[in-house]
Amino acid sequence: MYKMMTPGPTMTAPSVMEARSRQFGNPDVDEQFCEEYHKLCLSLAELLHTKNEVYILGGEGILALEAACASLTEPGDKVLVIDNGIFGKGFADFVSLYGGEPELYTVDYHKPVDTAKLEEYLKEHHDYKYATVVHCDTPSGVLNNIEVICPLLKKYGILTVVDAVASMFGEEVRVDDWQIDIICGGSQKALSAPPGLAFVTVSGEAMAAMEKRKTGIASFYCNLMIFRNYYRDKWFPYTMPISDIYGLAEAVRLVKEDVGRIERHQKIAAAVRKAVTKAGLSLYLNQGSASTVTVINVPEGITDKAIIEHMKKEHGILISGCFDVLAGKVFRLGHMGNNANAEDVSEMLLALTETLNALGFSCQCNMQEVFWGEL
Ligand SMILES: *Cc1c(COP(=O)(O)O)cnc(C)c1O
Repeated sequence: MYKMMTPGPTMTAPSVMEARSRQFGNPDVDEQFCEEYHKLCLSLAELLHTKNEVYILGGEGILALEAACASLTEPGDKVLVIDNGIFGKGFADFVSLYGGEPELYTVDYHKPVDTAKLEEYLKEHHDYKYATVVHCDTPSGVLNNIEVICPLLKKYGILTVVDAVASMFGEEVRVDDWQIDIICGGSQKALSAPPGLAFVTVSGEAMAAMEKRKTGIASFYCNLMIFRNYYRDKWFPYTMPISDIYGLAEAVRLVKEDVGRIERHQKIAAAVRKAVTKAGLSLYLNQGSASTVTVINVPEGITDKAIIEHMKKEHGILISGCFDVLAGKVFRLGHMGNNANAEDVSEMLLALTETLNALGFSCQCNMQEVFWGEL
């Protein structure tokens, strides 16, 4: 098996895999499960610095994004979709799907949203029920300043939906301080559990907006209201994926124990970028990179496919290309969660140096050496 250095999924700890293979009980009948689920929700809330409700949903990260839009959107609702990346823009589809009217605020994909310009825009345009924004838009690796953007939106009474799937636990996230009404997370990024679970935090205001709806939520699986009384009633809307949840609980326990993780992500990300640029490669972003992923322009004369294939075949390391408007243009190195450790990243950079040299791009340094020098 290869070493998976992609921006999610990541390598998982053996104890997470063991937790997933434990004998399980019946989550519908055994109330002990409800206690364990509740405890896990409280742990996630603590890590995300929120007093809001947390719900773990049975589905991959995208489910959280769709559930937020399905639960908030009524036909005709205007929604501000902040678009400086592929996931950012993608929210418009979920809004439309549930009858809303997305209005794209589209800005440069090479840097974070300029909050001063957004503030100007909002002065004239603020008649929105809610707004969507991505914290780390993984295809470009940009990190948006949600700690400024969300309070700004709230000043105009706009509810805030944040996709932090690829940032949380690798970057600081403070849901209550930053006034995030619904935040979306997934199991397979910096939490380093396998893909399969999504989770959300839901503010009282967001829940009140759902309760005030004139029309029903046009979904069962994406309806966040059906989770509202799960703890009081000891009842779940569907049989919870209990083994996935055991794995998630262990992954959360490991994250909680790992107190230096945010600083380590920052240090590793900075050293990777130093090494990559010293080698003569160029980064996709002009500024504002997240600490969880590095996105590099594919050098002229070679292809992303050739780089990925060589890395996998000759070095047993899987890195990632991209999709949508960035397909073929960039390749991506993941250093999030379990993968944000110097040994694995160093091995990846040595392999990348050899790979590029073999493919005809002469690296101006050994990226591994520069990386260790920068740490
Ligand atoms: C990974 C990710 C998701 C989940 O989507 P998949 O493409 O299905 O993995 C959602 N948002 C962001 C920003 C992500 O990085």
